[in-house]
This record gives sequence, C-alpha cells and structure tokens, in this order.
Amino acid sequence: MSPTASPTTAPALRVRVLWVALVLMLLVAQSLLVWLTLDYESGRAQDRSAEVAAQSAGELRRQAQQLLESVQVLVWSPGAEAAWRHESLGLLRERRALLRLERRDDQLRLLSASDTPYGAAPFSAMSRRALELELAPTCALAARTSTPTFSRSYFMPQPAGQGQEVVDLCFAVEGGARYVVATVSLPELLEKVAAGTRGEHELSLVEPDGTRLARAGNLRGQGVYQATRLVSLPGLSLLLRADAVAGRPGLIPNLAIALVLGLSLSLLGVVGLLVRDIRRRSAAEHAVAEALAFRRAMEDSLVTGLRARDRDGRITYVNPAFCAMVGWDAESLVGQDTPPYWPPERVDDYRRRQAERLQLGADDNAQRQGFETLFMRRNGERFPVMIYEAPLRDREGRHTGWMSAAVDVSGERRMEELSRQQQERLQASARLATVGEMASLLSHELNQPLAAIASYATGSLNLIDAPDEDPAALKDLLRQALTRIAEQAERAGRVIKSVHGFVRRRDGAREALAADQLVEAVLPLVRLQARKSGTRIEVALPRPVPRVWADRTMVEQVLLNLTRNGIQAMDEATPAAERVLHIEVVQTHPRWVRFTVRDAGPGIPPEVAARLFTPFFTTKTEGMGLGLSLCRTVIEQHGGALDFGPPPGESAGRGTEFRFTLPVPESPPRKPADNPP
Ligand code: ADP
Repeated sequence: MSPTASPTTAPALRVRVLWVALVLMLLVAQSLLVWLTLDYESGRAQDRSAEVAAQSAGELRRQAQQLLESVQVLVWSPGAEAAWRHESLGLLRERRALLRLERRDDQLRLLSASDTPYGAAPFSAMSRRALELELAPTCALAARTSTPTFSRSYFMPQPAGQGQEVVDLCFAVEGGARYVVATVSLPELLEKVAAGTRGEHELSLVEPDGTRLARAGNLRGQGVYQATRLVSLPGLSLLLRADAVAGRPGLIPNLAIALVLGLSLSLLGVVGLLVRDIRRRSAAEHAVAEALAFRRAMEDSLVTGLRARDRDGRITYVNPAFCAMVGWDAESLVGQDTPPYWPPERVDDYRRRQAERLQLGADDNAQRQGFETLFMRRNGERFPVMIYEAPLRDREGRHTGWMSAAVDVSGERRMEELSRQQQERLQASARLATVGEMASLLSHELNQPLAAIASYATGSLNLIDAPDEDPAALKDLLRQALTRIAEQAERAGRVIKSVHGFVRRRDGAREALAADQLVEAVLPLVRLQARKSGTRIEVALPRPVPRVWADRTMVEQVLLNLTRNGIQAMDEATPAAERVLHIEVVQTHPRWVRFTVRDAGPGIPPEVAARLFTPFFTTKTEGMGLGLSLCRTVIEQHGGALDFGPPPGESAGRGTEFRFTLPVPESPPRKPADNPP
C-alpha cells in the first residue's frame, strides 16, 4: 500500500485479492477435476481394451479348441465314405468357421472333401492345389508330434473379388497313414469370439508384422485405446487386437462431470449474487446508520423537549432537552405512566385527563394546536410548558402512541408578567398625573362649596345671636341655611368621591355595563374641567342603551383622557362660543359598540399624528404624554380598536375625533380551558 493510500483502500484491496484467489482456486480445481476425470476415463478405456483383448484371446483359444475337438471326433470315426461325408457335412453345418473338411492319404493326396453349405464354395476362385503350399509342412509336423496342427494363414480368394484369410488344421491319423485337414475361416472364428463382447471394440487378428488377417465385432475402432494379446495355437501364433470404438474422451466426458462443472459454475454465480446482496445490504445498513446518527444528533441538539408515549400512556422515549427541562434522566422516565414531573397535587387530575385523551385515539386533532400545562422540575419548581402532540404510527400505519414536543414557556410567562406589571405601574402613574393636574381644579371647585358653607354657617350664627328676631321666622331661616350647607357639603363630597373612585386601584375584572353608566361616571369630572374654560358638553346616547363587556375603571380612564385632551385642545385657539365637546355612543355592529369624543380644536398636525401613541410624547409643558398610549393599550386589551381623525364632513384643522370600540357582552370570552398534561 502506498503511503498516500486512504485507510479504506487496504480492506478493499484485500477483498479484491481474496476474490481473485477464490476465482483462481475455483478455476484450478475445475481444470484439475477435468484433467483427472479425463485421465481416469482414458485409463478406464485402456483397461477395458486390455480386458477385452484378454477375454477375446481366451475365447479364441476356446473356440479353436472346440473346433479342434469337434473335428477330432470325425477324425476317429472309422466310417465308410458315405458315413464320413454325412458326418462331415453335419459338422460343417454346425460350425460356420469350418469351410472344408478333407480326407487325405499318407501322401496327402485328396481322398474326399466336403465344403461348407454357407456362402460360396471354398477354393472355387483359385484351385485347392495352388493354395496348399503350407499343408505339407503342417501335416508333417502333426504326424511328427501326433498333435493336430494349424498351418500358417493364407488368403483364399473367392468369386467377385472377395476372399478371406484361412488356416488349415491338419490331423495325422495313425502316425501319418491318413490325414484329415480342416480349412478354418479366421473371420468366422473371430466373429464367434466377437459375439461374446459388448460391441464396444473392434477385434482384429494380426500377424506379428502388423498385417491384418481378419476383423470382427464393431468395425469402427478408433485406434486410440488398443490392446494386443498373443494367441498361441499348435503350429500357429496370432496377435489378437482389441480396438475401442470410443475415441479420446471429450472435454466434458460424462454427465457427472458436466453436472459438477455446472454446479460449480452456478455456485460461483450464487456466490456472486450473495456478494452483491451483501454489498447492497451493507450499503443500506450504512445509510440506516447515517440516518440514525443524523437523527440522534438532531434530537440531541434540539432545544425542544421530545417525549414519546405508547398507547397506555407509558413513556417510551425522551430526548436530552426534555431531561434537562424536567431534571430527571431518561432511565428514570422511560417506562413510567405516572411521570415524576407531574406536580403531586395535580397527579389525579392529569391521570384522569390522560385516560380521557387516550380514549379519544389518534384521530383527535385538537392536541396538534398545542396546549399549556404545568410540570415540576426535580427541585420541586413548577413551570409552565407548551405541549404539541401528534400520533405516532408504525410502518403499517397502526397507531402506536404519541409524540410530544414540550417547550418550557416559563421565560415567556415571566416576561408577560413583567410587562403586565409595568403596564399597571404606568397606568397608575398616569392616573396619579391626571390626579395631580386635577388637584388644582379640585381646590378651586371645593373652594366654592366650602366658602358657601362657611358663609351660611356665619349667617346662621349671626341669626342665632340676633335678639329681635321672631323665633318662627328664625327657625325657618336657620333651616334654609342648614339645608344649603348640607347641599354644598354633599356637592363637595361628590367631587371628592369622583376623584377617589378614579384613583383607587381596583381589580381589572370585566363586567357587562350599560354604556351610559360609563359616560355618566366620568361626566362630573369632565364637567368640572370643562367649566373652567367654558366648554359645553354634549352627550348623545342611543335608546336602548347598548351594553359593553369592559373593565369599568379602565374605560372610565380612557374616556377621561380623551375628554381632557379635547377640552385642552380647545383651550386657546377656539373661540369661546364654539367650545363644544361631543360625546357619542353608537352600536355599529351586533357585537361592537363605538364611543366617540369630538372636539372643535385645531386638529392634529401630521407630524404630531405620527407620534401620537408613542409613550411620553407630548406637546404640552405640563403633559406626561402617556395618556393616548395607555388608552390604546386598554382598548386593545378589551379586543377593541382606538383611532382618530378629523370629524366627518370637516376639513383637517377643524376639530378632532377619537373613536374606540368595545365588545358587547353577548358571548363573554370563556376562560381558557384547563388542558391535560
Ligand atoms: P398629554 O395629554 O399628557 O400630552 P397624551 O398622550 O394624552 O399626552 O397626548 C399626546 C399629545 O397628543 C398631546 O400633547 C397633544 O399634542 C396631542 N393631542 C391629544 N389629543 C388631541 C386633540 N383632541 N386635539 C389636538 N391634539 C391632541
């Protein structure tokens, strides 16, 4: 491996080498198998030829012996000519290999002869005399050894160009007084031998010099597997050759090896397929592992808590963010159906709601929008969480449980609480500012009744001291004075009460209120303010008076702010006769009621309008600049809207109109439902 090779190439190379080795081994094994089989087959064929040659040689000897013995019988039969002829013909008929039987005298002169009844007569194409050259030495040997003796073979022509190799078998009777000569056809003899073989070989008789004398059996010997045996007969030695019909075995010599080859090739194929399958599998496994790692990394890096539950509500999975949120580790959460992060005081509630929800099943979509609930950290701290749930399904789409995403919203809730408190503080300071402003007005207003009370009191005291007064008239005068005092005191009380009611902080509870109640509650203070600048107040209320769903104090404050702004706007530029503040209530929609405060002041220039609702924006030296921003907040908290513009039909610069809407209490907003965990 080169030093720059990546670490993955080494195993890949090894695998490749292994593969090459496997294929090579398989090839070698196959070739060896073929070679061994071929070798074995050739050996077997060769052995078979040798076996056939040996068997045939034995058979040839046996046949020759039988022939010899059967002729022997005839030799010893002393019968007369007719009997001999009869017997010899019978023998010729019986043994096809015998072509002719002759009786000869001691000088080998022919006495009588019988020819085979099969085929053409022997010695018809060439005379017997011309062909009996071998006879004399053969018979001499037979007489000398007293043993039937075979002559050397010779060719006996026959008509039509035919002919065959024959031998003479000479029997010497009584030491050479007579002779019996049998002419034996070598092809016929060999045919008889070949009949005993299975036709897989060609049998030949050959002379030691290679000349073929006769052949029989299956005549298609290939010359590949040959075996030769020497057959020794008395006076004659012949070579018998067995030549197998089968040639050299082919490359696929037999069915077995073809099967083995086929099987090993299929084995190679199967191994190849398996390898491909394994490759695919490992690729798939790799992809799954990647996906798993990605999923794990994703779950671990999520800041959202994840929790899975089965259909019995038992936790089956939580991610690290969830564990960090509640403070328990995964081991102590998984498998729980009453998790430790349920606050103990709510466990019964949660369990009941969980059971209800489990009954709803997977088709309930309500949970997807999310709901808020309360969990407990390990240190006992309760905290709000938003839960978003979705049903979990397996591969077949069966519902197996729920997956929930949990978001800790305690931070958001803290922020909301902080801003709410800030709002409240702002509203309180705005109220105080308004009150401060009004304090001087109040002192002026209270001065009048107090001065009146003081002067009535002084008058009364003087009356009591006056001596010449008629007691009845005195009593009458005193009653009048005291009644005035009581009236003035009551008036002063009303003034103070209206301020007190406004400043006092009350719970922001909303209630159904008649619109005129709201307007009339602020009217004394508005009038008080208007009187200073000589402004007229006009109120227009519809009949029947619509009702609104509102926080009384807040809305009163809005009305006070708007009316005060209107009155102040008309303070300077508007001629005294035109100073009119118009308050109007209209139900514009079955669900909405609109309040309008209209003045005849100089209007709001665009640069002021752009910043009107910015907190602390004011154009007045003594102003706080909080009024309008608070007003809008209050109205929007009620679900309504606050806007402004020139009064309808008037051009810009001729008055201003502030409008806000409040909902009617037909369908008071329900309390948010308490959700299951
Ligand atoms: P403040 O009254 O303390 O100044 P506000 O928020 O109530 O604070 O008003 C902000 C400014 O808006 C005022 O200073 C004034 O310039 C302008 N404004 C409010 N109402 C009117 C009105 N009806 N006509 C003209 N200008 C107005």
